[in-house]
Amino acid sequence: MTPRHRRSKRVRAIDSHVPVRSCIGCRRRRPQSELVRITRTVDDDAPVSLVVDGPSSGRGAWLCRIEGTRSDAQFSVVEACLDRALSQQQFSRAWRTRVGPDDVEAIRAALRRDEQPTS
Ligand SMILES: [Zn+2]
Repeated sequence: MTPRHRRSKRVRAIDSHVPVRSCIGCRRRRPQSELVRITRTVDDDAPVSLVVDGPSSGRGAWLCRIEGTRSDAQFSVVEACLDRALSQQQFSRAWRTRVGPDDVEAIRAALRRDEQPTS
């Protein structure tokens, strides 16, 4: 048996008009449309308040979007990337701020699809 190693490594050419960002979890570079942008808005009342795909004010952190999800679906972040980003403190790097345990909780609560059904 001769296994064929002819895997065509054709990476989809990325349109130069499409802005490319890196996921803070897996560090893969992808077109913006395949990522979810999470912006931290500083609010006096909340430890951390997240805007998913919100207006482009503030610093954004990018995470891979689950394939096929709508851009306005909140729970569309690839969980492996989210976990990795959290464990590697990538949010504090992206936002240039300290992200404490409370913030981590808030991020998890905001982005994880626990009970919220997507519809
Ligand atoms: Zn990723």
